[in-house]
Amino acid sequence: RFISLEGGEGVGKSTQLDALSQALEGRGLEVLVTREPGGSPGAEAIRKLLLEGEDTRWTPRAEALLFAAARADHVAKTIKPALAKGVWVLSDRFLDSSLAYQGEAGGLGIDAVRDLHRFGSEDFLPDRTLVLQLPDGEGARRAASRDSDGADRIGGRSPAYHAQVDAGFRKMAEAEPDRVQIIDASGNAQTVTARLLYALGDLLP
Ligand code: C5P
Repeated sequence: RFISLEGGEGVGKSTQLDALSQALEGRGLEVLVTREPGGSPGAEAIRKLLLEGEDTRWTPRAEALLFAAARADHVAKTIKPALAKGVWVLSDRFLDSSLAYQGEAGGLGIDAVRDLHRFGSEDFLPDRTLVLQLPDGEGARRAASRDSDGADRIGGRSPAYHAQVDAGFRKMAEAEPDRVQIIDASGNAQTVTARLLYALGDLLP
């Protein structure tokens, strides 16, 4: 099975990724944890182009193409081969981040970004996409305050941008309710992990 974990910055995505992979392994599954942008040698090289250096290096369209190119390589070289061996793949971000960040918040439109994915990755989709979200824009506030601290993110984004990212994820959950589920990220870490596992209940052996 292929699961993607999504969410804006500041929702505890990394902590939950670790906890969820451990919980799945605890159920006897072999799990490959991977990430976007990245997850294959070519895609990690593109990640450097996207996340290092000047924030303003790329136009929105060029940025969307780079994300789609990274994903195409990640799918072909890492995700599909693992799935073929019966391994569960857990990805830190996937298509829905591009739809929310570049499509909805970045103004390119969800449909345009989805078209890039159709071409690049033949519309290959996760079995389930879990989106961590905090209520009342709390995540967007945390994300905006973290943007000034540098490391590994595309910085300088406003609270309004992060709110649009959250809204983009909610649109995807409405459009594809069987695949995309919003998970309440408030409460302690164990509680959130339990919610994630519950949302995977029908897929677990
Ligand atoms: O997952 P993480 O929070 O480390 O994301 C790394 C950076 O890439 C963040 O700044 C995120 O906002 C950005 N990103 C993006 N568009 C995507 C995926 C990630 O702007 N499609």
